[in-house]
Amino acid sequence: MRLRNKPWAKDKIDQYPQYAVPNPELNKGKWDEVFENNNPLHIEVGTGKGRFITEMAKAHPDINYIGIELYDSVIVAALDRLIEAELPNVKLLNINAAELDKYFAKNDVDRVYLNFSDPWPKTRHEKRRLTYKEFLKSYENILVDGGEIHFKTDNQGLFEYSLMSFSEYGLLLKFLSLDLHKSDFEGNIMTEYEQKFSEKGNRIYRCEVKYQNDTEGQS
Ligand code: SAM
Repeated sequence: MRLRNKPWAKDKIDQYPQYAVPNPELNKGKWDEVFENNNPLHIEVGTGKGRFITEMAKAHPDINYIGIELYDSVIVAALDRLIEAELPNVKLLNINAAELDKYFAKNDVDRVYLNFSDPWPKTRHEKRRLTYKEFLKSYENILVDGGEIHFKTDNQGLFEYSLMSFSEYGLLLKFLSLDLHKSDFEGNIMTEYEQKFSEKGNRIYRCEVKYQNDTEGQS
């Protein structure tokens, strides 16, 4: 993502604590108090400008959503969407996903979405990929048992790497599409990157994987 410096972004984020949660570490283990209900919590890691998380929240009012984004200059665009949509079931966190366990306890999260994650194609940058084994461990640390990751990208290299990484970690493959927009998958909500790359003719890959319960995978 090309970053334009927005020196005012931090101040704007601070003005909307009802959407961009301040001091999120204080809510670890008690996100249901923030949303004032016990609905499932789905998070999108690397939410970018927030179209996916906002449209998902509109389509699924019985699910709580949190969009996680590293850069304040990017998350302000997601914040603008939330200010306009006035949705009670979606929040934003301006944090680094490498520190998820500072903000979420085990069982806080029911599902992780990864959409068009940065591919980091150089081998020496493998650890930065959001599907690297250390990230898979940090998702496991905050998900319910049997929690899921739903992942889509147009980047074939990242998709193949991620399938291998999921498999080596012991995740179970639940859904796979090698051409999402030509499949019969229903309810797809396009992200900003998905729109841009599919308009260029790129194929979209998608999979759903699941962490095994203690009793699964034993035969
Ligand atoms: N998901 C959006 C979409 O599909 O349009 C944005 C995709 S963009 C290629 C990837 C986003 O992930 C960027 O906005 C980037 O800042 C964010 N990101 C990358 N690494 C991150 C991390 N460790 N923690 C939080 N956000 C991260």
